[in-house]
Amino acid sequence: MTVHFPFQNSYSALPDSFFARVAPTPVAAPRLIKLNRPLALQLGLDPDLLETPEGAAILAGKTVPEGADPIAMAYAGHQFGHFVPQLGDGRAILLGEVIDRDGVRRDIQLKGSGPTPFSRRGDGRAALGPVLREYIVSEAMFALGIPTTRSLAAVITGEHVIRETALPGAVLTRVAASHIRVGTFQFFAARRDTEAVRRLADHVIVRHYPELRDLERPYHALLAGVVARQAELVARWLLVGFIHGVMNTDNSSISGETIDYGPCAFMDAYNPSQVFSSIDEMGRYAYANQPRIALWNLTRLAECLLPLFSDEQEKAVAEAQDILGAFSDQFSAAYQAGLRRKVGLFTERDGDEALIQDLLDAMAKNQADFTLTFRKLGDAAVEDSADARAQFMEPAAFDEWAGRWRARIALEQQGATERQAAMHAVNPMFIPRNHRVEAVIQAAVNDDNYAPFEELVKVLAKPFDDQPAYAAYADPPLPDQRVLQTFCGT
Ligand code: AMP
Ligand code: MG
Repeated sequence: MTVHFPFQNSYSALPDSFFARVAPTPVAAPRLIKLNRPLALQLGLDPDLLETPEGAAILAGKTVPEGADPIAMAYAGHQFGHFVPQLGDGRAILLGEVIDRDGVRRDIQLKGSGPTPFSRRGDGRAALGPVLREYIVSEAMFALGIPTTRSLAAVITGEHVIRETALPGAVLTRVAASHIRVGTFQFFAARRDTEAVRRLADHVIVRHYPELRDLERPYHALLAGVVARQAELVARWLLVGFIHGVMNTDNSSISGETIDYGPCAFMDAYNPSQVFSSIDEMGRYAYANQPRIALWNLTRLAECLLPLFSDEQEKAVAEAQDILGAFSDQFSAAYQAGLRRKVGLFTERDGDEALIQDLLDAMAKNQADFTLTFRKLGDAAVEDSADARAQFMEPAAFDEWAGRWRARIALEQQGATERQAAMHAVNPMFIPRNHRVEAVIQAAVNDDNYAPFEELVKVLAKPFDDQPAYAAYADPPLPDQRVLQTFCGT
């Protein structure tokens, strides 16, 4: 039996300027490290066959499966606010698209599969550490219910990549609703190729926003749709303490998925100005800056679409501003509703926002663990507050707040266990804590030991369950385990 991918490619049928046709570069000795079997099934692939040497060869880019039409996609992007007119897939190759079990078109892309015409000075390869990191964090995000690209497989190539030292090379198979980014629009807009922008917009509407197709002003509606999805997405990030780390416009997905897990991280102690990425020296992509940056990126998208709005530039700009103006309210609505759920409020009353803000302020002042404070607050709905209180350096700061919170929830008719269940359903017990991710990577890279990786992935697949056998995975790092910086590792 050969591995069958039911490809139905659409992006590679777009004009030649959209991509470069290029096959993956074969590698020496591929070995499958991890296959995401449920995702394989969801994509209509046979997981048993993918686990054979033939399957591993495909997932490593050593052989190209039938029906694939391998391409590297062209895109541009603002990196840390600085425009680069040509980036593109420098180390990723889109094999093709399949329609999944729910009828959703999904890209299957190899990341780390060798050089492409967009590689610039890069080697087109990926190191094992960042591949495992993307696997762990993207699958954790999925389990948390946050829109994200997925990870289908990780293989090691049997070759080394040279970074600061020689590291084992690896390839990640990434699955996305699409890999179209704000930067994809920028690529054509920068070349004043309005027809290509229109082609791309039409493709995106059919693929991601089909309900807009027959509207009178589909391109305006498209911008509004992307704005709405990004506002929701960033709110979801904040609500779990996620910091993307490199929100360049080329890492900002048009479908509204989280994409490109590089120096991303979840924070332990709540700190709105938290930055982990070693290259984010100015804190541009700090935790609390993410909504502002998302809007900045969407404004770049709007600029690309102006020629489709109207021939009169002033009119087009006014219309775009109007649409972008919705972001702030949409973000706030999603964020505030999420926060209300996190503290167990079923109803909305005057003063709620201030009550919740006071908790966040006390958490920041007391270096309270973001995840555990909310998780333990759920338990405080049925019992005493000891575990939640223990997250605060000065527990008295919590006591004062807890008194107000208890008075507030007493105004609602829902019972204690109902409240706890509702809170536990939105406040995870387990997140991919940095020190755990680093430990897993060290075991794999230094000792060829993947048992810790397997265990972490397993625990993170059920983030809202208590899983008492794995309780230690919920613990914040000890002072000497703290990871202060994360790296792109590209
Ligand atoms: P990223 O930081 O992963 O978002 O990548 C930014 C740009 O650099 C994209 O155009 C990537 O394709 C390219 N790039 C990153 N790493 C490599 C690499 N090892 N080889 C070639 N291109 C790369
Ligand atoms: Mg990128």
